[in-house]
Amino acid sequence: MNERTLDAAAFRRHAHELVDWMADYLEQIEQYPVKSQVEAREIYNQLPASAPQEAESMEAIFKDFQEVILPGITHWQSPNFFSYFPANSSYASLLGEMLTATLGAQCMIWETSPAAAELEERVMNWLREMIGLPEEFSGVIQSTASDGTLIAILTAREKASNFQVNETGLRRHPQYRVYASGQTHSSIEKAVKIAGLGRENCVYVATDENFAMDPAALQKTLQADLQAGVKPLCVVATLGTTSSTAVDPLEPIAKICQEYGVWLHVDAAYAGNALILPEYRDWIKGIEGVDSFVFNPHKWLFTNFDCTAYYVRSEEYLIRTFEILPEYLKTRNDKIVNNYRDWGIALGRRFRALKLWFVLRNFGVKGLQEKLRLHMQLGQWLKEQVAAHPDFELLAPVPLNLVCFRYRPDEALSEAQLTQLNQSIVQRLNDGGKIYLTHTKLNGIYTIRLVVGQTQVAQRHLEVAWELIVKTAKEAFHEMD
Ligand code: PLP
Repeated sequence: MNERTLDAAAFRRHAHELVDWMADYLEQIEQYPVKSQVEAREIYNQLPASAPQEAESMEAIFKDFQEVILPGITHWQSPNFFSYFPANSSYASLLGEMLTATLGAQCMIWETSPAAAELEERVMNWLREMIGLPEEFSGVIQSTASDGTLIAILTAREKASNFQVNETGLRRHPQYRVYASGQTHSSIEKAVKIAGLGRENCVYVATDENFAMDPAALQKTLQADLQAGVKPLCVVATLGTTSSTAVDPLEPIAKICQEYGVWLHVDAAYAGNALILPEYRDWIKGIEGVDSFVFNPHKWLFTNFDCTAYYVRSEEYLIRTFEILPEYLKTRNDKIVNNYRDWGIALGRRFRALKLWFVLRNFGVKGLQEKLRLHMQLGQWLKEQVAAHPDFELLAPVPLNLVCFRYRPDEALSEAQLTQLNQSIVQRLNDGGKIYLTHTKLNGIYTIRLVVGQTQVAQRHLEVAWELIVKTAKEAFHEMD
């Protein structure tokens, strides 16, 4: 081994230096442009074509990290990051993640690290209680909500086919269909494709004026499909759609699913976190009719990516769908412990429960509630600014902390001109580097969306952002051709 390759003493020294850098970075994060300003291929072209033959020093590697890599980073932890949904984090989470990497445990079964399996079971129970799910639900950590939804659809498929698709494939089975609102996340269609059901069997149900699923339309669609000999397999209800955080009405949807014997999966990727606030619990009225539920602590519970909480009412269906038991994985305690390799797709698993445990303990439920309530307040503050401004309009209700709006300074502007103007506003803002936000389309209208969910975001950030948006909008309008 070359002397440049780290040994224990050098690791200790560099680790201390890096932790200092990490703390400085997070404290001074507002000095960076929120959205990376690099051009496409700019980073790639600075990197050597082949891996180095000789060992390189940590100093050289870290210098390149700062000079080459960092400019190509979009700073998701910035309090001025208002895009997508956040992937927020916290100091406690980072410390947990550092330990996970240090232990380097591969937590596929109980025996490969009993503490990982038992801590996961315990924190999933804590979270279940925190968000008000009934005790029958069993939880497991998955990588992403996309994985959770795929797992739900595969489990629904196996339950409906009496676990026969796993044995003989889909050939001899009816045409299965999955239903979700037209506002649903793309991960649903992706899961339907991967589950072998065929993209055309992902059916989009009409939404109401608030962008939430219309239960009457769902019932009609199910009925028509049954009459046509199609087998409704699963309905996916969304709590907090990606475009506008619309909330599908769970209670009537659950009733319909029970009536038709259809698996009901809830995609609450972002908004599920809000259920730690009792004032949002009305959303899960009807939970008795839900079969599976997914949400992402890695979006809005200060636990760094990745950490998805997946809950299933009957764990035996899940385990029967994914179980494998080759001889080399059999162990003495298989009947009394959770072997999470059988609760999802991957065999290998990281010890993700550790960082979640750190976060839940270091914030406490009250600390988490306080943060989320602040985010709600800030979202509502922005909504009021938009509503009160004569040249801006709200384009969707604001049940949480995502505000959908556009600039419309002149009634005479055509839809095409409004799209061009609002596109230009978003581009100018993001190129400016002071804030970062994204867009969507609602009812075909180009919509600016701004989410207030950052760990360190405060009123002052939002005030500056709003001032900047108004100023930039005026400039873009004056410079319009
Ligand atoms: N579902 C909804 C409603 C989302 O908004 C998102 C992402 O933003 C996802 C699913 C996908 O989440 P993940 O990246 O964890 O797969």
